[in-house]
Amino acid sequence: MSSALETLRRDFGGDIIEPGGAEYESVGRAKLVSGSPAYVLRPKTVGDVQAAVGFAVGSELPLSVRGGGHSFPGFGTNDGGVVIDLSQLAGVEIVDDERHVVRIGGGAVWGEVAAALAPHGLAISSGDTRSVGVGGLTLSGGIGWKVRKYGLALDNVVAAEVVTADGGVVAASADENPELFWAIRGGGGNFGIVTAFDFVAHPTTDVFFGKVTFPASQAPEVLRGWADHLRTAPEELTSIANLANPFAGGPEAPVEIHVVFDGDDPELAAQALDPIRRLGTVVDDDVALTAYADVLVEGATPPPGIRVLAHSGFVDTESVPDVLRILAEAGTSQGSPSISIRSVGGAVSRVPSGATAYAHRRAELMVTTFAGGPEPVLATVRPHLAAIWGRLAPHLDGAYANFLTTATEEDVAAVYPADTYRRLAAVKGHYDPTNLFAHNHNVRPE
Ligand SMILES: Cc1cc2nc3c(=O)[nH]c(=O)nc-3n(C[C@H](O)[C@H](O)[C@H](O)COP(=O)(O)OP(=O)(O)OC[C@H]3O[C@@H](n4cnc5c(N)ncnc54)[C@H](O)[C@@H]3O)c2cc1C
Repeated sequence: MSSALETLRRDFGGDIIEPGGAEYESVGRAKLVSGSPAYVLRPKTVGDVQAAVGFAVGSELPLSVRGGGHSFPGFGTNDGGVVIDLSQLAGVEIVDDERHVVRIGGGAVWGEVAAALAPHGLAISSGDTRSVGVGGLTLSGGIGWKVRKYGLALDNVVAAEVVTADGGVVAASADENPELFWAIRGGGGNFGIVTAFDFVAHPTTDVFFGKVTFPASQAPEVLRGWADHLRTAPEELTSIANLANPFAGGPEAPVEIHVVFDGDDPELAAQALDPIRRLGTVVDDDVALTAYADVLVEGATPPPGIRVLAHSGFVDTESVPDVLRILAEAGTSQGSPSISIRSVGGAVSRVPSGATAYAHRRAELMVTTFAGGPEPVLATVRPHLAAIWGRLAPHLDGAYANFLTTATEEDVAAVYPADTYRRLAAVKGHYDPTNLFAHNHNVRPE
């Protein structure tokens, strides 16, 4: 251990933060989960990342890699181990003006990316929150406000630079190490540390953004009409339906249909949005033309002791009516968690299912529930969660890794269908045979 530390101090040009250090309190914890790592290493260069990986191997301490630090299970921290915090690797650079290729550091967050690209009239299909990391969101999917038109965040990645478990630097793209390129698009942080992603960005204008709300009592017909409309609506329209918003009355909260129409033509936007406005009695409608970078919201950091439980599953077309019926009932009943239903489909479903390690290409919707609070509150919510997910189980398929609080074998099996898992395990065996990168929805090396 002491020789590993000596080598680290010699080769590493970034920050080494230990318990008692000035910044330890803020960098020790991830956004949603507390931790007490022995070392937080903040690399400034790819060489630093290599040195940090060498230290993790040499010290034999458990390793966490942190991008934006938002993972629900708290993968970005640990107790007594090493955290490699990539926040200093956050550059955003347009490297090909014609093709709109943008190189983004593995520790950047989406708010920085949106702000940096806005002056160029560009944007990348990502998520809905500024402080969420490019690394974690992209490596497992990336379902955001341009998902129906441009696909998942990972569908827009054309190359990556990866520091692997042996400390080497490897390029991954369709032409170089294509199996690794396949695996990092859906297989999470299992294969190494991505120090840079090359994304193809898309021209963007201001977009129509906001929400239209309806009384909770109209949930069944609003949800049904919403899903029907999205099947034929232009792909410029991406939408999320929320029920039981805890900040707006829980089970009595209005049904919220959040929308982005990706364009600034008011007539085209109205054609896409008016059928939603006719779904029921509109309580509120705040849809307005908004700069795309302002669509992303700030993420809250819960105080210590507050945990968030997230569950997710995918819905194919045949199961949509049953799932929406169950959710409309559950979301308007006492004790309901907050429910969020995201439209996917569109560009996501045009990518062949074996083309990336993200496998849920057939889904029309993704369902997520969130519940938060101190442990005694969560104890009262768990039976409701078990009841809801028990009813949904026969109608759902798979799970979205980025919206799961747990990482059990059952979760991993839901995230990766058997064929996908086998292929990932072979790639893992090649690039990380000792499972150094294990603090994630873990794929065991074959
Ligand atoms: C408030 C909030 C809003 C969200 N909104 C969305 C949304 O709109 N759409 C969506 O799809 N998801 C969303 N998510 C889920 C989000 O995608 C996941 O929580 C994701 O794991 C966050 O990535 P991160 O880099 O911030 O997290 P981290 O905890 O830092 O990382 C998560 C995992 O990715 C690995 N990792 C991160 N960066 C790298 C890298 N550069 N190289 C290798 N491994 C890396 C980590 O080791 C870890 O295993 C949201 C989450 C929160 C808390």
